Amino acid sequence: MTNTFEQNDHAMRLILLGAPGSGKSTQAKMLTERLGLPHIATGDLMRLHQQQGTPFGLKAMEYMNHGLLVPDEIPIAMVLEEVLPPMGQKGFLLDGFPRNLVQAEALDQALAGRGLETNLAILIKVPHDEVMKRLGGRFLCQQCQTPYHLDTRPSETEGKCDQCGGVLYQRPDDTLEAVKVRINVYKQETEPLVEYYKVISKMVEVDGEGLVEEVNNRVLEALSLRTQKSEA
Ligand code: ADP
Ligand code: ZN
Repeated sequence: MTNTFEQNDHAMRLILLGAPGSGKSTQAKMLTERLGLPHIATGDLMRLHQQQGTPFGLKAMEYMNHGLLVPDEIPIAMVLEEVLPPMGQKGFLLDGFPRNLVQAEALDQALAGRGLETNLAILIKVPHDEVMKRLGGRFLCQQCQTPYHLDTRPSETEGKCDQCGGVLYQRPDDTLEAVKVRINVYKQETEPLVEYYKVISKMVEVDGEGLVEEVNNRVLEALSLRTQKSEA
């Protein structure tokens, strides 16, 4: 009998799907704290590479600033490093990956090669006109990435993060032009993933409108319903 760590593996492997501005990253943070899972946000990883001036980061920058997808080999390489054992042994919650079918298949194949698979993809559903509004007034903490909104969630002190005191900034891809591109890219490239995970019975959809806490409760509910079902 082979005795690899892939066997008896109970780690949870989750994917969070949703349009830009759907509240995906906020929910991802809450969920990973609750579940004790590593939060892997490809957008954050790429911005980190940019700040550090790595070759990956420099190549990704132009695409990101225009709201376009970065060529697949970059996010795939970044993510596989984090999700495959030994790094990914504790499971993961992916936020911003996969963003198209090529990435989804690359992930599935790499996991399958280790005898592993994703457990569930959770879609945070928000109408496209609503995400346009949300992204317009969005500011993020430079340090901890907590999102704020001029209208719906202003920080207590203007320009400063309530959580850590970090400086708030607007992402270059939150301009109206780039937001339009990002939403189109989402419709064309990422939305087909909903069908992809439905076909393999790994899709659960959650209404993303309403208060952050309400959405979080729906996500938790969907998750516990699903895990109970699959254990039964
Ligand atoms: P949002 O989900 O709000 O668009 P992210 O921080 O997840 O924000 O992503 C920002 C940008 O980073 C994307 O518009 C894209 O250019 C790039 N990016 C992030 N993840 C991927 C990915 N998996 N594949 C290609 N590009 C990506
Ligand atoms: Zn902060």
